[in-house]
Amino acid sequence: MLNASYIQIQSLKSGLWKNVETDVLRLDLLHPIISGNKWFKLKYYLQEAKNSGQNTIATFGGAYSNHIVATAFACKQAGLNSIGIIRGEKPPQLSASLQEAMQYGMKLLYVSRETFKNKEHIIHQYAEEDLYWVNEGGYGVNGMLGAKEILSAAETSSYTHIICSCGTGTTLAGLVEAVLPHQTCIGISALKGHVNLRKDVMELIPVQHHDKSLEIFHEYHFGGYAKHPAELINWMNELWRAEQLPTDIVYTSKLMFAVKDLIEKNYFTHQHKLLVIHSGGLQGNRSLPTATLEFL
Ligand SMILES: *Cc1c(COP(=O)(O)O)cnc(C)c1O
Repeated sequence: MLNASYIQIQSLKSGLWKNVETDVLRLDLLHPIISGNKWFKLKYYLQEAKNSGQNTIATFGGAYSNHIVATAFACKQAGLNSIGIIRGEKPPQLSASLQEAMQYGMKLLYVSRETFKNKEHIIHQYAEEDLYWVNEGGYGVNGMLGAKEILSAAETSSYTHIICSCGTGTTLAGLVEAVLPHQTCIGISALKGHVNLRKDVMELIPVQHHDKSLEIFHEYHFGGYAKHPAELINWMNELWRAEQLPTDIVYTSKLMFAVKDLIEKNYFTHQHKLLVIHSGGLQGNRSLPTATLEFL
């Protein structure tokens, strides 16, 4: 079983943060493979499936998806079957993520990129079977409710800003729900041109929380969701050397870069105390050629 007591807060000490107090909530320490926010986001989906007597969870993702691996593992733990609808034809050599998902007992079904776009159609095709469907990336109110518990994993009330990476925005929505009146949430989008992100976040949050302090930055995507230019890889290695903080190529490296950049631009001041959510995802780094990163 995963144990939330493994989660720690790491205070960053190097000169990168210009004496702005910056701490990291290490959700990546939960488990080497099932790290981070996905574990929190899945909790209430699994509970709902169990409560309604459904014993198979089905969901969607790509070949390197953190969500697919986490769902496979979480279902195994919960005694549920799992099905992963995977984008694209079956590759001759399965990615480490897909191999892992299979080891946890997930049944993988490959669909073309074209078919993958129409989720409703796929769900319709399986209408005869009693499946509990979870959105790609775990987007939804149940995901938000799980993410809301992230800030309870440690003592977090003294921070002025809670900063996280965003894919679907479900994690950010949970954090907005959870924060105290003196705290601001900041989301850093890992996707390029995700113009609906704020709207997607708001749709998961009850109206009485809509006036909470929330900022979203869209300019730290490094070329887009799956892009990891040399500049980003260099930054990950620099951060590792300075803080022994491992980050992933899709989300948390961009997040940490954004924090550093916003400090340099004086967006944050010495009156602020930052808590950055390390949402995990390190398993995805296995898609890189060996020796690209100094910490793998
Ligand atoms: C999935 C994921 C995210 C994005 O979470 P959302 O709730 O979809 O915004 C952030 N970081 C990591 C490491 C992830 O795997």
